[in-house]
Amino acid sequence: MKTKETYAGIDFFRIPAALFVVAIHTSPLTTWSEGADFFLTRVLARIAVPFFFMVTGQFVLSDYLWSRQNHRQKKSLYPILRYLRKILLLYGISIVLYLPLGIYAGHYQNLTFGAALRMLLFDGTFYHLWYFPACILGVLLVCLFCRLWKGKGALAAAGVLYFIGLFGDSYFGLTEKLPGVAAIYEKGFSLWSYTRNGLFMAPIFLMLGAVMGSGKRYDKSKKAVVSVGFVCSFLLMTVEAFLLRWFEIQRHDSMYVMLIPTVIFLYQILLIVSESTKNAHAKDLRLLRSTSTGIYILHPAIIVVVRGVAKVSGITAFIDNSLLHYVSVVILTVAAAFLIAVLQQRAFTEHIEKKHVQKSRTWIELDRNALRDNVNFFKAFLPEHCRLMPVIKANAYGHGAVPLAKELWRIGVKHFCVACIQEGIALRRAGVRGEILVLGYTHPTQFDALRKYRLSQTVIDYAYAEQLKTYGKRLHVHVGVDTGMHRLGERCENIGQICEIFEMENLIVDGVMTHLSADEKAQGQEKVFTDRQAAAFYEVLEVLKERGIKCPKVHLQASYGILNYPELAGDYARVGIALYGVLSTKEDTLRWKEKLHPVLSLKTRVAVVKEIYPGEAAGYGLSFIAEHTMKVAVLTIGYADGFPRSLSNGKGAVLIHGQKAPVIGTVCMDQTLVDVSDIPDVQSGDIAVVIGRSGSEEITACDLAEQAGTITNEILSRMGARPERIII
Ligand SMILES: *Cc1c(COP(=O)(O)O)cnc(C)c1O
Repeated sequence: MKTKETYAGIDFFRIPAALFVVAIHTSPLTTWSEGADFFLTRVLARIAVPFFFMVTGQFVLSDYLWSRQNHRQKKSLYPILRYLRKILLLYGISIVLYLPLGIYAGHYQNLTFGAALRMLLFDGTFYHLWYFPACILGVLLVCLFCRLWKGKGALAAAGVLYFIGLFGDSYFGLTEKLPGVAAIYEKGFSLWSYTRNGLFMAPIFLMLGAVMGSGKRYDKSKKAVVSVGFVCSFLLMTVEAFLLRWFEIQRHDSMYVMLIPTVIFLYQILLIVSESTKNAHAKDLRLLRSTSTGIYILHPAIIVVVRGVAKVSGITAFIDNSLLHYVSVVILTVAAAFLIAVLQQRAFTEHIEKKHVQKSRTWIELDRNALRDNVNFFKAFLPEHCRLMPVIKANAYGHGAVPLAKELWRIGVKHFCVACIQEGIALRRAGVRGEILVLGYTHPTQFDALRKYRLSQTVIDYAYAEQLKTYGKRLHVHVGVDTGMHRLGERCENIGQICEIFEMENLIVDGVMTHLSADEKAQGQEKVFTDRQAAAFYEVLEVLKERGIKCPKVHLQASYGILNYPELAGDYARVGIALYGVLSTKEDTLRWKEKLHPVLSLKTRVAVVKEIYPGEAAGYGLSFIAEHTMKVAVLTIGYADGFPRSLSNGKGAVLIHGQKAPVIGTVCMDQTLVDVSDIPDVQSGDIAVVIGRSGSEEITACDLAEQAGTITNEILSRMGARPERIII
């Protein structure tokens, strides 16, 4: 699956676009000037609907059309079908919603079958509802065109339809001069009231959206050119519209020649803005999307309400003053749409949470906001040029490497480290992009896989570099330098050999690195040692420079290095444990607790609650014998789920209903017994928190580590594959 990207620029523009549509239907400036109102509602606001079509093109059609054109494997039609289902549902709801108003206004009097069909397919059952059938018809037509003629031909076909549409819309005055042609158009008008519909107008904008949103990058440097393009074409469109009006050529005023370049430039501006606002929360953007849809659907009803209230109350200023009318309609519509969107969002998240939680036995909840906060903290803490290269080895320290990498990608992280090639392959197979560096040893039989999955390999010493060279094909590598840890890397004294590695055939050296082994303290002998390691590393870099070797990216810091020795920096920071919001020991974690927030919670369920009586044993090996009658809860978590066996017999505890329940007996592979004698009303199915908060109590991964006599890194990385990972 591809990572879903956010397009904040586009989502933000939906709101003004929806308000333009409201303007079209309320004519806010008529009280002052017909000309000004024409400009606002018949020129400027005409951008809105094509924009919405383009958005649909980008998000619904581009994947499908693009894969067809490139002759790649066939893409599924599923997203398109899902979209059609959604539009049909919205159309259905809207039809029902506007039925009373339509009846009141007499829209459905003497309705023949043919007229009803024409209404459903082209005009919509209320004046603004033409948009929904237009989306459906347009999407179907574009799919058909792309089947028949592929990319350019399909675009041309859509263009021709728009051209035909123009002469039934803004340019109909010219058509009327040719009686034969006009007669054909008149025939058409017995099927549809306007050519502004799914047949003539929607296809071209859907296709343009699909082409422009097909993954091409729009960088900031183009912003000026594109903005000038937008202003010029919009001015020309304005001139076009006023000329057509002056000469009374328009039958209707939705379609202009210059509308096409105008919205192309506008859409590029929005894509560029989206590139630089990638940090927007997906949830907020979803709220914007729902709100704009709500505004579109609701505003005609609100117009009726405002008019009704004004009439009944006698405060006719709300009808007589066009601007006041518009503003009151906008305020009420936005409020109603936003309220509905919020309620919908809440129902949606509850539904998702229920779905997950109901399924679960033991699960891990990942706090997206905590992760973002941690990333932002490091971005601010590190020097400008130093980028994050998160270490997501060991299934991202138990968090789930794939969901984590995707979340990080969404917030702009483009480089990752893993421990071994299998981890790299798993990420690529899940669709993770960017640079992935394998920190550990890869056996030569797997060099093919390094290439196939575009992974970078650490050169672990000179002899290994020769093996990589003999492989015979080009490989991306980072050269490891051993400055005192004596684990991986060529010894820093062997500077001649290190330089040779850089000149070796077939090796594309993207980086040079070392690893600090005593950076968890910032004073004493550890500081002396760390300074010496850093000095040795920078000396190597000096020599490389002297010998004219182009120095690639350098990196030497892991979590503690970043926090204790920020001045050492480098180009990348290989942050591991701290990214997850904790440090190896409880003491260190507490020291950074204001800045770093734990990402992971581990939760499980109570399977059964039972009483045991004095003298009875519980669990394996008679290690626990009850002294008095007690209530025992059996939890669906064991050491195979990352709950250490060393927490047996009261060493550890979990939280149920915000109270501590100590472990009794030995922790089993899949289950654990806890004492719930003092916790009222514990039932089968209740949630027990192993790591995280419950009520006012909290158990941290560091607590578990301390009780188990190890460091948090081990607790987290041993979490196992069984718990589901859920991002919230
Ligand atoms: C694991 C690892 C890291 C990350 O270490 P943390 O202390 O978790 O930040 C960085 N570099 C290398 C080489 C590693 O093996």
